[in-house]
Parts: sequence; structure tokens; C-alpha cells
Amino acid sequence: MPIAERMIKMVEGSSMIRKMFEEGARLKAEHGEDKVFDFSLGNPDVPPPPEIKKALAELIEDATVSHGYMPNQGYPHVREKLSGFIRGEYGAEIPADHIIMTPGAAGALNDALTALINPGEEILTPCPYFVGYNQYAFNANAVVKTAETSEDFRLDFDNLEAAITERTRVLLINSPNNPTGVVYTAEELARLGDMLEKASARFGKRIYLISDEPYRKIVYDVEVPSIFQAYPHSLLVNSYSKELSLAGERIGYLAVNPAAEDARQVVAAAAVSNTMFYVNAPSLFQLAIARVLGVSVDVSIYRRRRDTLCKGLRSAGYEFVEPEGAFYLFPRTPIPDDVEFCRVLMEELILAVPGSGFGRGGHFRISYAVPDRAISGSLEGFKRAIEKVK
Ligand code: PLP
Repeated sequence: MPIAERMIKMVEGSSMIRKMFEEGARLKAEHGEDKVFDFSLGNPDVPPPPEIKKALAELIEDATVSHGYMPNQGYPHVREKLSGFIRGEYGAEIPADHIIMTPGAAGALNDALTALINPGEEILTPCPYFVGYNQYAFNANAVVKTAETSEDFRLDFDNLEAAITERTRVLLINSPNNPTGVVYTAEELARLGDMLEKASARFGKRIYLISDEPYRKIVYDVEVPSIFQAYPHSLLVNSYSKELSLAGERIGYLAVNPAAEDARQVVAAAAVSNTMFYVNAPSLFQLAIARVLGVSVDVSIYRRRRDTLCKGLRSAGYEFVEPEGAFYLFPRTPIPDDVEFCRVLMEELILAVPGSGFGRGGHFRISYAVPDRAISGSLEGFKRAIEKVK
């Protein structure tokens, strides 16, 4: 047995994704890069805003900038600034010592879950959901439990309530949502808070709410309401991977509501986790984002792509919920077998991800973090694919 037994399943899971990449790479080699329409990845292609490049250039020129270790939670002055930003953005008082700078949302989620979960306890999450949660849960020895959302991906409170057990420790939500693009309303969040308060009392155990918001600034005509007012026992996960197109640079943060039960211990545990896993978040990018708080990528680019894609797919006969945020579309497949339909799309040189990978079959995910020409160039193929299976 060359590797740890518990890793075998994880490697198998990632080899499925790798197979998809390989198939995509094969198609690109065979037909040419520009003939293959790759909608499979959530890797932002919109350039980072000029402000971040300027901040980085200044920092690199500045001889006084250190590239050494700093307190493991992150530079205190960066967290002070972030605390001020959160006050304006969320209307909540989150002191700097309740913030941990992390390598992206993934780092913040690993820290939060490691801090909160005992082996075998459950993370409840509405379904469909981002597959990365399985990996973060694995790291924390947690079990992912899902609650189906409605047909149009709104929270189903009956399903959520029925799924809460004495093992539930965390409710993990993601808004704007990957893969559906849904944004939860303030009313939905307030109702969630109420439900969690009652469930915590029922089981005599605190259930925490974690809100994963890397797409917070990529929204169309809506705003993402704050969780802090909806439920005191809340943790916010945020990242600059999408809102500043810095996915490869690994920078984000975890903010723990000081009103949460045992907030200080939760922060202390998450900070230790951050040190154990990563030591600290990248120094240069902590300093850079502190200079550009409030700046985000040009969302009008994503809006334009969303509109073109929605119009084209609707007229081809696809059914979907129009996304309110993020850069994904999650249409129904015209046949029940989503894996088979993605294969049919592949014949049209279109790469998409089957919905069953996100816990909801009969759908497929398209990422529109791709150039406009990929969208316009693919529409005929989408049309032929639906006609083929009808
Ligand atoms: N959460 C969701 C919902 C995501 O879609 C992603 C990345 O795609 C992540 C977390 C991880 O993001 P990061 O690059 O900030 O670690």
C-alpha cells in the first residue's frame, strides 16, 4: 500500500477531474485551442484592476517592505484596515484580532472547519454545492450532509431543518452560489438564523453559520446581505480570487463575529490551524489588498457574457435560472443523464461539468469566466447538442 488508505478515495476523485482536463487538452491539441470552448473552470480571465498592479509595483520598489514572517494571523495594520472595511460593507464591528488572513477562501474554510469540528460531526450545506467542500471537510474529519434546495435553488427550510441532527456543527452557505448563481436574501438569512438558534437550543449544542462569499462583488442588480446581523454565531469567509482576479496568488480572510459563542476560542483555534497548515497568508498580497480595499474587477464584463449566454441558450431551448451573481450558469440538461449530455456537448467541442458533480444531476455547469468569443462561438454547438438529443 504505497499511500495512506484515506487518501485513495481522494486521489480517485481528483483523477476524475484530471481525466476531464486531459480530455479537454486532447481536444485542444487535435482541433486547435480556439476551436474548443472550455467552460469547465472557474478561473477568472478578467484582468485584475490596475489599482492592484500599481500597489504591487510600489510594494516591490519599497525597500522598507519586509518579506519575512509576521504574526501568523496576518499583519496587524492590514487586519485593522479590513476591520474598518467590514464595518462599512457589513455594518458589523469585527475587531482586527477576530480576523485571520488566509490563503484564499480555501484556507479560511480549512481553518474554520478545523477549529469547530470534532471527528465525525456534520457540516450541513444546501445542495447543489461547491465540490471543494468535500475536501475541506475531509481535512477536518467532518462529514458533509446536504439539504436539497428548491427547483430554482432557493433555500428549502423544511429540508434544512430535517437534516439537522445532534451531530450538526456547522451550516455552510455560499452566496452568490457556485454553481447556481443564486444570492440569498436578507429575509432568507434571518430565517436561517432563527432556525439555527432554535436547533442549537433543541440539541443543546451551538451550531455555527459559515458564509463563504468569494463571489460577493460579482453580482448583477442585487447585493449580498450581511450574515452578521442574521445570526451572531457566524463566521465570514472571503477571498480576492474572484473579486480581484487573484486566484493564483492565494489571499483571503476569515472573520469571526465577536458575538459568537466562544468567539475568542474559535479565533484562537482557527489561528493555530492557519499556522499549522500555511504558517501565514502571502505577505506581499496582504499588503497589496490593504491598499485597494473596495476595488473590484470590472463586473460589467461578466454581466455582458451572462446576458449573451442566457439569450443564446434560451433561444436554443435550454432552461435555467438566470444567475444573480458569480460567473456560472447551471442549466437543466435536456435529457436526465447529465454525464451523457456533457459527452454530447464534447462532440460539439464544448466542455462543461455535469451537475451530479455538484450533487444535482440533470443539470450542467458552464463557467463564463471565458472570453466573449468563446461564448458567441459556442452557441451554434449548444443548439446542435440540444437538437441531437431531442
Ligand atoms: N468557495 C467557493 C464557492 C468557490 O467557488 C471557490 C473556488 O472556486 C472557493 C471557495 C475557493 O476559493 P479560493 O481560491 O479563494 O481558495
